[in-house]
Amino acid sequence: MKHLGYTFEKLKIASFDFTCCEGCQLQLANRESTLTDFLELLDIRNFRELSSEQHDDYDIALIEGSISRQDEIERLQAIRRQAKTLVAFGTCACFGGVNSMKKKFPLKESIAEVYPGMPVQTMLVKKICEVVKVDFSIPGCPVNKEEVERIMVCLATGSHVTLPKHPVCVECKAQLNTCMFELGEICLGPITRAGCNAVCTTGKTSCLGCRGPSEEINMPAFVKLVKDRELSLDELQEKIAFYNAFDGFNSHET
Ligand code: SF4
Ligand code: SF4
Ligand code: SF4
Repeated sequence: MKHLGYTFEKLKIASFDFTCCEGCQLQLANRESTLTDFLELLDIRNFRELSSEQHDDYDIALIEGSISRQDEIERLQAIRRQAKTLVAFGTCACFGGVNSMKKKFPLKESIAEVYPGMPVQTMLVKKICEVVKVDFSIPGCPVNKEEVERIMVCLATGSHVTLPKHPVCVECKAQLNTCMFELGEICLGPITRAGCNAVCTTGKTSCLGCRGPSEEINMPAFVKLVKDRELSLDELQEKIAFYNAFDGFNSHET
């Protein structure tokens, strides 16, 4: 098959959702202008948003969502045994995502309040790489379809797959946005990996870091920036914790 000047085999692909909202898989079904071309790249073996086909032979498994039940661990391990390439797909899969917020609340009491009298299996959220080997991660809440299409072409042609290394600020400045810090808001753009075209800040909403840390972030300098502007350090902690994407970076540093 020929596409964009390359010759390649269709990718045998399957997509599986775990604990999540399925918004990332839905992104792939959106953007009608490129949907036909995109589908031409793929031999869909299992992907319920796109097809009713269900087969167990696939090379690439997209894993959407985080892990929050024991049976999900077993299901994920079985997928890992089948897939040649396993992709953590979206912020929930890469970092835990919004589901990780449940670690802030007492598990037993919260379940009793939300599902009174019902048996509910749950556990603290795990990211996909805490359960199985991940070959590649595509962050974003939701993922950026343009980026996913680019990555799929790379996988189909055997090219090196990369993500932007620079922070969201670069994309934000290119759009001539007024900086949210100038408006008195804390924005995680300086420490967050670009690739979303600064969609939030262009819409006058601060970046909450859904794409996780950019390369070589300077957390102490970022915390100092927040302090120098006399903005709330509690709010900073809250924003940094939102997607659980900055594990391992100490945002209490000065
Ligand atoms: S990363 Fe966001 S959009 Fe994707 S499944 Fe998780 S909550 Fe939904
Ligand atoms: S609004 Fe956020 S992303 Fe944009 S330049 Fe300011 S800090 Fe960076
Ligand atoms: S601006 Fe920040 S929160 Fe918004 S999509 Fe981009 S990385 Fe995610």
